[in-house]
Amino acid sequence: MPQHYWVETLGCPKNQVDSDKLVGTLVADGLAPAASASEADLVVVNTCAFIEAARQESIDTVLALADARRDGARLVVTGCLAERYGDELADVLPEADLVAGFGVPVTLGSKPAVPSFDLLNLSRPAATAPWAYVKVAEGCDRVCGFCAIPSFRGKQRSRPLDVVLAEVDALGAQEIVLVAQDLASYGSDLGQRGAIVPLVGAVAARVPRVRLLYLYPSSLTDGLIDVIGATGVPYFDLSLQHVSRPLVQRMRRWGDGTRFLERISSIRSRYPDAAFRSSFIVGYPGETENDHDQLLAFVEEAQLDWAGFFAFSPEDGTYAMELDGQVDTSLVRERMRELGELQDGITAARRDALVGSRYEVLVDAPGVARGHREAPEIDGVVMVPESLEVGSFATVTITGAAGPDLEAA
Ligand code: SF4
Repeated sequence: MPQHYWVETLGCPKNQVDSDKLVGTLVADGLAPAASASEADLVVVNTCAFIEAARQESIDTVLALADARRDGARLVVTGCLAERYGDELADVLPEADLVAGFGVPVTLGSKPAVPSFDLLNLSRPAATAPWAYVKVAEGCDRVCGFCAIPSFRGKQRSRPLDVVLAEVDALGAQEIVLVAQDLASYGSDLGQRGAIVPLVGAVAARVPRVRLLYLYPSSLTDGLIDVIGATGVPYFDLSLQHVSRPLVQRMRRWGDGTRFLERISSIRSRYPDAAFRSSFIVGYPGETENDHDQLLAFVEEAQLDWAGFFAFSPEDGTYAMELDGQVDTSLVRERMRELGELQDGITAARRDALVGSRYEVLVDAPGVARGHREAPEIDGVVMVPESLEVGSFATVTITGAAGPDLEAA
């Protein structure tokens, strides 16, 4: 009888890729998937440490799975939380048999140590959905004031192009979603600035759809815009974080609202169907009423298809921890509510405007599909007739909109 595993993944798409690789390793070691966590011999929790709420969710999940596991099952905690708080975490989580960050060899299966620092290059199983994430680099060379990621994920390490392409081929997916902490900087650590452009071109030559997540705005060059446009998936996920210049500078980032609007409008003039997503931090230390008003005005003017607003979370070891001008929690909540309501209205109106149009979609599951405007797991979906085959492309007519989702016939 093979041993069975259960892998629970928290956090972002980059973590999902790591989990896929863990699963690939476990399967290669002879383990089989369990039907539920309570039936597994080995339970792995791949944690997230991005902000306080994510850390709490990770710990709650570990405790819940510690309770749910059957007698004798091993519980391993890995991922960002384990990497960042290693020994400390092991002390507060005696329930875990092992707390293992990325740099620690982990014995997960029957074989000896798995060199987990090589997660980036471990093989992974073929995709089970018509789409799959591919992580092209790990770590980040930037110094954004609020972000602890470089402190525990390290400097950027890009994977060689041929290795990325081999993974794309092996996954056999119709849509590849490229991810990295700072995707547009792919290759700069290999002395290949701008390597993201040929990478996108090469992936697009292999699969019908390529999508890019997390583009730092200053890296959005004309060459990158052109290659994204040429893929037929004009989807631009711009990591903007704020638009008030003094606040953006305090975040130790590039740009301001005027530049962002220029970029967005120039992309729209070339690709009228372009879809935009962004995320913003609310309540960064020193954020004034005027900064907030600028962000509201930007959101109104930019008419992004999708936007996420996140409350600033002070992270140990970051530049922002030392800054004065903390914003009161109730004020942050109020600003988030205002921004969220404004964006919800914009998203709904943009979805309504699609009613009556023809739209090419990829069918992800029976009755559920996505066009170029919808990133998997992040944006809305398109409800389609169940008769459409999973994994196929179809051109449908949008018949209705319900919040972020569309209905089609
Ligand atoms: S670009 Fe900035 S926010 Fe993104 S991972 Fe790097 S330091 Fe963090």
